[in-house]
Amino acid sequence: MQVLLEKEKEDFKQKVQTFADNKLSKTTKFNLKLLWQELYKEGLVNKENNFFQNILLTEVLCKFKSGLGLFLLTQFTCIEIIKNFASDSLKEKYLNKLISGECISCFSITEPNAGSDVSMIETRAQKKGNTWILNGHKIWASNGSISDIITVFVQTNPVKAIHELPQHKKSGITCFVIPSKCKEVEILKDTPKLGVEITPSNEVFIKDLSVSEDSQIGNIGDGIKIALSTITSGRMFCAAQAVGLLSGILEESVKYSTKRNQFGKSISDYQAIKWYIADMTKDLDSARLLLYKAVWAKENSPEELNKLSSMAKYFCTSAAQKHSSNAVQIFGGAGLVKDSYVACAYRDSKVLEIYEGTNEIQKLVLAKELL
Ligand SMILES: Cc1cc2nc3c(=O)[nH]c(=O)nc-3n(C[C@H](O)[C@H](O)[C@H](O)COP(=O)(O)OP(=O)(O)OC[C@H]3O[C@@H](n4cnc5c(N)ncnc54)[C@H](O)[C@@H]3O)c2cc1C
Repeated sequence: MQVLLEKEKEDFKQKVQTFADNKLSKTTKFNLKLLWQELYKEGLVNKENNFFQNILLTEVLCKFKSGLGLFLLTQFTCIEIIKNFASDSLKEKYLNKLISGECISCFSITEPNAGSDVSMIETRAQKKGNTWILNGHKIWASNGSISDIITVFVQTNPVKAIHELPQHKKSGITCFVIPSKCKEVEILKDTPKLGVEITPSNEVFIKDLSVSEDSQIGNIGDGIKIALSTITSGRMFCAAQAVGLLSGILEESVKYSTKRNQFGKSISDYQAIKWYIADMTKDLDSARLLLYKAVWAKENSPEELNKLSSMAKYFCTSAAQKHSSNAVQIFGGAGLVKDSYVACAYRDSKVLEIYEGTNEIQKLVLAKELL
């Protein structure tokens, strides 16, 4: 494995950095759909991009604004689902539109009674002739309010009470693609949240939505397999979001601490501050290397991917949480100003420890690989 990035990958990162400097640095209100379309126009997302490039794009844009990572992760994940599991007609219908940003997607599995344990979902699809009738209630659907389509996971087992079934019988889950903008799908207003506010999160109610068999992705009962196959990618996107955030807080902390004077000298002259900065740079490099190793494994060592993607998600997001808290400490009162860079990073990093599988779940995955 090559440890450092090849020149073409470094050049790609530089191109994304230039895009961020030119197009995003003065933006305060983001239109995420337009942002994706701009990325497409500039050739930064396209059909030919490999996974590594999508990760590098996420890292660079998240240094600029870490909350963008959830939007990117969701769109990339849905593209992966359609590409790898959908029928030719669904690919024809959606793939180009998703890549160009004409169509924005959301991924919806979580429900009020099904978080870490997704097998508990209660949203149902019932077969009537050649159509499926969907009913249910989803929460935390990222991109919900800006989406055109939803990749939704539902129970297709004809059972009444999922919670009464033994664990091994709960996995009759199937994936469908459904429209977001129709009267049978109600997307509630954005859920106010601690961080990552830039990407909307929504509750979704589905009431008697009738879809044809063609809307089914994969086979009946393949839902968990599809969700799990994209979760390794999701974890790496989440880790990339954390690495971007870490590089941003390191830069801001160095800048601030060297210009802020107290007791007649720069606060960066005090050992307490030096140690924060030293630890930050050590963990940033470790986080980035672990992330790149996991991304490398996707193509070169798939048998290690589950472990490495989990480790990267866990390590990078915990490091982001710890060091963004230290960054606020370095800034003192200035770090508490609500919309300051480090205050946003502090809130965003907490959220990163929870989605794409909480860090406790990542530890379970890691232990299972070894024991
Ligand atoms: C900002 C944000 C965006 C999200 N986006 C999406 C999305 O786009 N689509 C989607 O479908 N979902 C999404 N989610 C949902 C997310 O995947 C879940 O929140 C997450 O999986 C945790 O589920 P939960 O919140 O119900 O917590 P719970 O599963 O209720 O967990 C609560 C606590 O118990 C711990 N815990 C649970 N089980 C175990 C165990 N077996 N061992 C040890 N500890 C355990 C957890 O680690 C956690 O600390 C999003 C969530 C957030 C916050």
